Amino acid sequence: MNKFKPTELFKDFINLFYPKLCFGCGNALFKGEKFICLHCLNNLARTKYHTIEGNSVEQRFYGKVEVQHATSFLYFEKKSMTQKFMHEI
Ligand SMILES: [Zn+2]
Repeated sequence: MNKFKPTELFKDFINLFYPKLCFGCGNALFKGEKFICLHCLNNLARTKYHTIEGNSVEQRFYGKVEVQHATSFLYFEKKSMTQKFMHEI
């Protein structure tokens, strides 16, 4: 059932004049998007290192400390969307 919620209506009204903007592209976010739009989310440079044994993050620890697994969710490059998100966080 769809219940009427005054707080949701108020939020939608405020969003008309002050929309939440995507950290990546600056476009207005749709309902259900919190910080980043679906387009930017799909275009993030994911590493998939969690599926690669001996990945470059693990290699950085070799000979320094004992680790069983290491990973990174995203690639990091200067002036990339990943850097933008890191600064926003
Ligand atoms: Zn975006």
